[in-house]
Amino acid sequence: TAQILDGKAVAEQRLQKIAEQVAKRRKQGLRTPCLAVVLVGNDPASTVYVRNKKFACEKASFASRSYELPASTTQEELLQLIDELNASPAVDGILVQLPLPPHLNSQSIIERIQPDKDVDGFHPYNVGRLAVRMPLMRPCTPKGVMTLLETYGVEIRGKKVVIVGASNIVGRPQALEMLLAEATVTVCHKATQNLEHEVSEADIVIVAAGKPKLVKGSWIKPGAIVVDVGINRLDNGQLCGDVEFEAAKERAAMITPVPGGVGPMTIATLLENTLYAATLHDKPAA
Ligand code: NAD
Repeated sequence: TAQILDGKAVAEQRLQKIAEQVAKRRKQGLRTPCLAVVLVGNDPASTVYVRNKKFACEKASFASRSYELPASTTQEELLQLIDELNASPAVDGILVQLPLPPHLNSQSIIERIQPDKDVDGFHPYNVGRLAVRMPLMRPCTPKGVMTLLETYGVEIRGKKVVIVGASNIVGRPQALEMLLAEATVTVCHKATQNLEHEVSEADIVIVAAGKPKLVKGSWIKPGAIVVDVGINRLDNGQLCGDVEFEAAKERAAMITPVPGGVGPMTIATLLENTLYAATLHDKPAA
């Protein structure tokens, strides 16, 4: 039975390390990193994510600012807030919680964020930097997965990695991260013809489809490493991933649980990105 990749514990350790670095910055007379979190409307999942992000800021002793705007907010109003946060020397990172209400154009909002404050790593500039192997701000979930695997000593170079899901925020940048680590990468999506076959060849499989138990335990190659990014709320209120956990656990060498796997790593990486953004904003000594 598989070893559990304990994202919750690894994320706690990272938050502690970040807090130490923040304390060191203060001693050196440098600013406390500050994350601005923008939530539009009151989507229940988004509200929980935003609350967790603010809580993590407290744990890492970051400053945070919170902008909770009504669902009726216009594109122009949101763009204006982004412009203000871009211009504010007190703000290091800007996070606009997605999804936005349907009348707003997320892509043009994302593109308005200054790349050096784009701590989600979703701006095309930052995605492009990752694509050409010169990463700056890296998308949080894929980077968090890399950190988790690295912490457990998983070797990536030369491995066959199969990613299920090709979204802009998880699957695609995950493929770029894995390429950067010199894996052989296959990306599956809705049009993939034989998902079972693709998954069964993976040394490492990363699933981000948003479909509960899409990947069956019997598909997993014995000894493979399984990373489940999916977060699905079932009718009974339980959270479950995109992988049949119990069955997969019997075949895999290592597996992430849901919850307590990738989710906490995403938040820890967001804070790492915000700390990195703060270093970009440090003024050179006069
Ligand atoms: P999305 O809906 O934007 O993308 C889903 C992708 O999966 C698409 O590329 C689609 O083609 C593919 N897909 C859907 N059904 C498929 C099928 N039957 N076979 C093969 N491919 C299929 O979703 P997303 O934003 O990438 O999120 C995916 C999941 O990850 C969701 O459950 C989301 O809640 C979760 N998520 C978790 C974290 C975290 O921190 N743990 C972060 C972001 C997203």
